[in-house]
Amino acid sequence: MDLKLDSEELNTCVHCGLCLPHCPTFRITGEEALSPRGRIRLMQEIQTNDQMVTKEALASFETCIQCRGCEPACPSGVPYGSLIEQTRKTLVQENRILPRWQRIPYHVLTRPRLLRFLSRLLTIANKVHLIPKRFAIPKNIPFFNKPLIPSGTDVYLFTGCVMDAWQRETHQAGKRVLEHLGFGVTPTGDRVPCCGALHTHAGLGTKAQEIAENVINSLSDNERPILVDSAGCGAALKDYGHLLGTEEALAFSSRIFDIHEWVEKHIETFAVSSKLSLRVAIQDPCHLRHVQRSHRAVRNVLEPFVDEVIELNDDGLCCGAGGAFSIFQPDLASKARDQKIAVINEKQCDVVASANPGCSMHLQQGGIDIRHPMDIIDEAISLKTIPSDL
Ligand code: SF4
Ligand code: SF4
Repeated sequence: MDLKLDSEELNTCVHCGLCLPHCPTFRITGEEALSPRGRIRLMQEIQTNDQMVTKEALASFETCIQCRGCEPACPSGVPYGSLIEQTRKTLVQENRILPRWQRIPYHVLTRPRLLRFLSRLLTIANKVHLIPKRFAIPKNIPFFNKPLIPSGTDVYLFTGCVMDAWQRETHQAGKRVLEHLGFGVTPTGDRVPCCGALHTHAGLGTKAQEIAENVINSLSDNERPILVDSAGCGAALKDYGHLLGTEEALAFSSRIFDIHEWVEKHIETFAVSSKLSLRVAIQDPCHLRHVQRSHRAVRNVLEPFVDEVIELNDDGLCCGAGGAFSIFQPDLASKARDQKIAVINEKQCDVVASANPGCSMHLQQGGIDIRHPMDIIDEAISLKTIPSDL
């Protein structure tokens, strides 16, 4: 089968195996087929040697979390993320993976009113214990959300789909932090209801392209920076140039900043009078660390506001959340989470900070007390700091 992979990219892999220790599914199973090298070899055999797409091959591709922890570890610069995205896209088009019933939730993401309605139903279902515990559905989905009121036109705050419905308080916190820094904020709201990250992750690449075009058209009436407080969304928006392959998309992506990158640039605006008494362990979302590679900014913006920032000793190993991975591959996802929780428990911390809603929901399900860095900074600012120009 032609997986429609770029042969040059595919043949960059020299099968050295240096990526294996950085792959969560290989670490859990020890199976070559569930490692980056094993998956690349399968892609090569299917595309180049016309080998049959066996059940085992499909399982190998479906169990990739797409954390991309293998990319920074690879000395040959294999663009694994784009290889697995294209592989999944082709297999979805051929109806080999992601059966139709599994595609239904992705239709909801671009319909914010329907998403909010279904979220309310989930809240009720959760209250009467109708949702199986293995699904990473948080117990605290709000029934109603306070509106995000625009405060100016300096920057956009990208609000997205699930995060806006389930964790809008974090958008409110991020918005207040930006306002403390002197920026007027326009939340993007329902006019750009979804970035397409989850669609790309699932292999629904054509739909992701359609969404990307809509986002670009909706936000191109000016050149404002677009700030993103979800690592997965930020990575997807920064990748629009690659996804669409146009100059316009490339220019659009250059306006995207993870919110921590932006706050880090302006952090000197605050005079920090005292800190929160918190020892905060940092959980690096894969799409911040391995894809955007801007995870240092999280430490730099948190450090002034808390007693201690604590590093985990696992080189940013994936927690197992991975888009809808925890729903469709619950066994592997919970084993990956167990690995992460063991590493967190090695440390004496009061709370864990994560800049991605999927990771925080997944780890909360495992009993971890986890907050978004913006929630922590917002609390510190509101209690204990004053703007330096007062
Ligand atoms: S992906 Fe990179 S690190 Fe992994 S086996 Fe191939 S060349 Fe080696
Ligand atoms: S993306 Fe993550 S799960 Fe997939 S092969 Fe790479 S390291 Fe393993």
